[in-house]
Amino acid sequence: MDSKTAVVTGAGRGIGRAIAIALAKDGYNVVINYNGSKEKAEKVALECREHGVSAITVKANVSDFSESEELIKKAIEEFGSIDVLVNNSGITRDNLLLRMKEKDFDSVIDVNLKGTFNTIKHATRQMMKQKSGSIINMSSVVGISGNAGQANYSASKAGVIGLTKSVARELASRGIRVNAIAPGFIESDMTDELNDKAKDEILKGIPLKSIGKGEDVANLAVFLSGDKSRYITGQVINVDGGMVM
Ligand code: NAP
Repeated sequence: MDSKTAVVTGAGRGIGRAIAIALAKDGYNVVINYNGSKEKAEKVALECREHGVSAITVKANVSDFSESEELIKKAIEEFGSIDVLVNNSGITRDNLLLRMKEKDFDSVIDVNLKGTFNTIKHATRQMMKQKSGSIINMSSVVGISGNAGQANYSASKAGVIGLTKSVARELASRGIRVNAIAPGFIESDMTDELNDKAKDEILKGIPLKSIGKGEDVANLAVFLSGDKSRYITGQVINVDGGMVM
């Protein structure tokens, strides 16, 4: 394929790392965004280059509008186009509503929802010029089902679904597709925070009886990035072993 460019936010570790590497394997030049994980992001770039593509790392806090703008600008300066934008960055600040601090509500909304808006807002101008593009937003099954102890996170991920569907409707006529992935329980630093008892409880609710891997999410991201999904937009697709049906 002609070289295409993908921007993946929060790609220094976890699911974002798996997505960046899978896209590199599929022939995309990759822009690896990180906020705190500089060294890890540089390692991911090395791994991507092993697949014969170009990869750069760019530091940006996606919750900051102008840092997101700089991220997209750097991607365009380096590669001339943005064919795929994966909004993967996310944080949790779990607590029951009664104990949840206002700042923990705000910071989760700022990174997970506002961060997704920020990069979409800046990347779509370029995609509209190109008359093509695929945007993939990371939601979560708890954005569909809700989850005790995650009012902030669930609200942010439900917001990502509303954002995805609205923007998909606005941009379809411009050749830009927008979809969301809703992972269930996937191995990463985020889920490592849970103790074994909590993990066992979650496993009981997964029909396929195993915890997912970053690659399981990455396989779908690659599919949604390319032409094989050309007739799919505005959708939320779960990668969850059947956890939420
Ligand atoms: P993770 O291992 O905790 O990684 C989070 C990523 O987000 C890191 O790369 C981090 O970058 C980045 N990030 C955090 N704040 C950022 C900011 N302000 N600006 C830019 N990047 C930022 O989490 P994960 O499990 O891979 O999760 C990835 C996505 O999948 C998230 O959106 C998460 O909500 C979603 N998800 C995960 C699961 C799961 O079971 N793991 C389930 C459902 C949905 P730095 O390290 O560079 O700061």
